[in-house]
Amino acid sequence: MTLQSRIRDVENQLEQACLRSGRLREDVQIIAVTKYVSVGTAEAVVQEGVTHIGENRWPNAKAKWDALKGQATFHYIGSLQTNKVKDVIGKFDYIHSLDRLSLAEAIHNRAQVLDIKVPCFLQVNVSGEQSKHGLAPEEVAPFLVELLRYDRIRPIGLMTMAPYESEPEETRPIFRALRQLRDELNQLSILNEPLMELSMGMSNDFEVAVEEGATRVRLGTVLVGKEEMEEG
Ligand SMILES: *Cc1c(COP(=O)(O)O)cnc(C)c1O
Repeated sequence: MTLQSRIRDVENQLEQACLRSGRLREDVQIIAVTKYVSVGTAEAVVQEGVTHIGENRWPNAKAKWDALKGQATFHYIGSLQTNKVKDVIGKFDYIHSLDRLSLAEAIHNRAQVLDIKVPCFLQVNVSGEQSKHGLAPEEVAPFLVELLRYDRIRPIGLMTMAPYESEPEETRPIFRALRQLRDELNQLSILNEPLMELSMGMSNDFEVAVEEGATRVRLGTVLVGKEEMEEG
């Protein structure tokens, strides 16, 4: 399958999911997750007009960032070690994995040096799986209160990863719970600006996530394929 046909198929599925749920296509943004593909493929993705790129590890992302900076918007979607903050902040436009105060402090300090603000998604472990990163749902409100101390961090929404299900429909309660959590948090008015964004949905389950209100879907395999690559 060619890159163009994959993008076209995803676009059709996305439009259908928007139609089914009465949403506007422009309210859902595709992030192309390029962690499984080469720099050349990532460049081709941007050429095809998908200009939001997601990566989960800095060593693998570096060559793509060098090749595409200025042409693409970069999303850091993997778990972020505090000692990697200096590599990532200032290069990635969005962080999707803010899940602890030590990380918030490190991001804030680095952003202060660079004199920037950093839009962040709070990662929430809705499913409660041990293997998954993220705050427990009940931890998010107190976490937002603590975040007020770090004015270089701009909390814009929530992110989650659903467990892999062979039947995507089974992920629906996870996505619905994330949306409800966002709406409940906004009722508390902890922040000046409401949390608008929901980063949820991957190759296997993005249509369900869109039906449940995703504003960003993070698509790897289904959109850009998967290539054999050297670790590097
Ligand atoms: C790899 C990854 C994705 C994309 O995975 P696919 O199933 O290939 O679409 C999305 N989000 C995160 C956090 C990832 O690590």
